[in-house]
Amino acid sequence: MSAADAVTDSLQSLRARFIGVQDGKPADYIPQLALADPGAFGLALVSMDGHRYSAGEADIPFTLQSVSKPFIYALALSLLGLDEVSRWVGAEPSGEAFNAISLEPGTGRPANAMVNAGAIVTTALIPDTPHEPAFDRILSCLGRFAGRELDVDEEVFSSESVTGDRNRALAYLIRSTGTMPVDPVLAVDRYFRQCAIRVTTIDLATMAATLAYGGVNPVTGEQVVSAEVAARVLAVMATCGMYDGSGDWLLRVGLPAKSGVSGGLIAVGPARFGVATYSPPLDATGGSVRGHAALETMSQRYGLHLMLNP
Ligand code: GLU
Repeated sequence: MSAADAVTDSLQSLRARFIGVQDGKPADYIPQLALADPGAFGLALVSMDGHRYSAGEADIPFTLQSVSKPFIYALALSLLGLDEVSRWVGAEPSGEAFNAISLEPGTGRPANAMVNAGAIVTTALIPDTPHEPAFDRILSCLGRFAGRELDVDEEVFSSESVTGDRNRALAYLIRSTGTMPVDPVLAVDRYFRQCAIRVTTIDLATMAATLAYGGVNPVTGEQVVSAEVAARVLAVMATCGMYDGSGDWLLRVGLPAKSGVSGGLIAVGPARFGVATYSPPLDATGGSVRGHAALETMSQRYGLHLMLNP
């Protein structure tokens, strides 16, 4: 069997092993997400030479949700630099749920850019230019990570917009601590829109592989962000990307990762690969049950834990 066939075979065998898992259920606090097919299970891996491998439903579209957060953090770091971004949002694991009121005592900054509070601020930090509104910059940056033009699922956007009072409340609370750079309504609207950008599992694996490859998209060859920015984003993903499950994830899987409530999950093997899964049923921390199981098994089976591969 060729090396390429072995990768595809391994993704297929992970899918076969976990497709029968029935635990968890799709998010329903955003009503449109509850309509997802709980049986869909896609896996994809992109290597540093730009090969894309996949198994299962790896090309059906779903929305990015929180998997957008590390990439917008990367955009903010690229545009404003670490010192300026860090004035607004911290880099400490919160140990709290994705939607927690996670504001540092003293500074009032959100704990990190992976929880909602920090992500809303990070999104708000992206400035409009005379030629390009901030949201267009966000959409085109995510498209460069994915290697193709992306669009917004308007139904998911409106569904979150009409039910998103907690995020709206968070944005107002953040303004009260002096760490909200723009109007809270505008910030949340832009954040919901960013979460509703449509991708496939193969897109997600390409985005993850771009972080793995020092900010260069291995499929298109484009330098999307600098190697330094990519490394910083991976550091925050490693410590905060899985919310209140981040410590346990790093312990067991040992790879920087980010989950999203639509069921997407990415993990990064620095200088080696980007991997992604899509399966909508979620566990209590808002992460995909099958995705989590598949990536944990993959890491153990192939010795991918970063502390084994310094
Ligand atoms: N749009 C979702 C929210 O803000 C994202 C949460 C997630 O994917 O973890 O509630």
